Amino acid sequence: KERTLGIIKPDVCDKFSQILEAIYDRGFKVTKMKMCQLSRSEAGQFYQEHQAKSFYNGLIQFMSSGPVIAFELIGEGAILNWRALIGPTDSATARSEAPASLRARFGTDNTRNACHGSDSEQSATREIEFFFPSKGVK
Ligand code: ATP
Repeated sequence: KERTLGIIKPDVCDKFSQILEAIYDRGFKVTKMKMCQLSRSEAGQFYQEHQAKSFYNGLIQFMSSGPVIAFELIGEGAILNWRALIGPTDSATARSEAPASLRARFGTDNTRNACHGSDSEQSATREIEFFFPSKGVK
C-alpha cells in the first residue's frame, strides 16, 4: 500500500469535517494527522521546489496565514488517487473539469485551492517526514 501527505490549507480549515468525510468515503486510511500553523520559513522549506516561481511569495504568505491540517493517507495508489480527489490546481478549472473534486467544492482560485497532495513517492516521503519526523512521537 502507498503513503501520501495531504494538507487542508488555511482557507478551508473550517471545512475539515466535510473533507475528512470525503477522504474516508474514498477508502483511504488516515494514519497520522495534526493541526499546526507554519511560520513563513517552514512554509518556504515545505515548498522549496517552487522557490523560483512567480507565485512563490504569495504561496508562502497564504500557507503561513492560518492553521493547516496535515495528514498521512495510506491506500492503493494513494498518491494519484488523493490528487484525483483534490482535482486540478486552479479551483476554477476544477469546477469546470472535476466538479466533484475538493478544489471545485471548497477552493477559491489558483493559490487558495483548499488542499495539497504529494506528487510522487519521493515528495511523499519528504513531506511526511516534514510534518511527522520519525524521531518524534508516533
Ligand atoms: P499541490 O501544492 O497541492 O501539490 P499542485 O501540485 O496542483 O498543488 P503545484 O504546481 O505543485 O500545484 O503548485 C503548488 C501550489 O502553488 C498550488 O497548490 C497553488 O496553491 C500554488 N500555485 C500553483 N500554480 C499557481 C499559479 N499559477 N498562480 C498562483 N498560485 C499557484
